[in-house]
Amino acid sequence: MRILLIEDDPLIGEAIRAGLAQNGWSAEWVRDAASASCALVDHGFNAVVLDLGLPDRDGLDWLRAFRQGGDRLPVIVASARDGLPDRLAALDTGADDFLVKPFALDELCARLRALLRRSAGRSVDTIVHHGLSVDPITRETTLHGRTVDLSAREYAVLNVLLERPGMLRSRASIEQRVYGASGEVGSNALEVHVHALRRKLGAEAIVTVRGVGYRMGCP
Ligand code: CA
Repeated sequence: MRILLIEDDPLIGEAIRAGLAQNGWSAEWVRDAASASCALVDHGFNAVVLDLGLPDRDGLDWLRAFRQGGDRLPVIVASARDGLPDRLAALDTGADDFLVKPFALDELCARLRALLRRSAGRSVDTIVHHGLSVDPITRETTLHGRTVDLSAREYAVLNVLLERPGMLRSRASIEQRVYGASGEVGSNALEVHVHALRRKLGAEAIVTVRGVGYRMGCP
């Protein structure tokens, strides 16, 4: 799942980007409305998280133009404007949901999941790898038909590896996606998650390439 994040505040933007990554979503982060419009031209996004106070254009104006262009991509407005008129204006302009800052990242992710579920119906393909099956929206994971409970971080690691199951991923690239650029990464945090995934999916599920990284094996 790819999310377009439109947010000019560096701290808030990095926190949201990292939070989305921890939930297994890749986020393209842009700081203004013009960059958002450019990013939408040639990328397949599944949803947009939109700040309203942007440096070059009001977020509501941007959203209005976006909807007038006929795009039905789900949009969640995330704004410090907490008055009822602001929330109503956003929803009437074409936002699918509204979150008042500050908000918990878990709530943003839960709302995104709900939104993506509604917008996609069940049309989004389940990721299947040998006996492993992962629903990219609900994150429901099954192994040979049996439900496997994964933590958010374990899911995020698995999601990165499943993007290209045969491909070796370096430790740094996985950590970047799971923890973000400025995230706190304990020296063995990734190993801990890989160990947990092997315990839940089987010892052969993830292959270690010593000194380099990991790739999917045969769960
Ligand atoms: Ca702002």
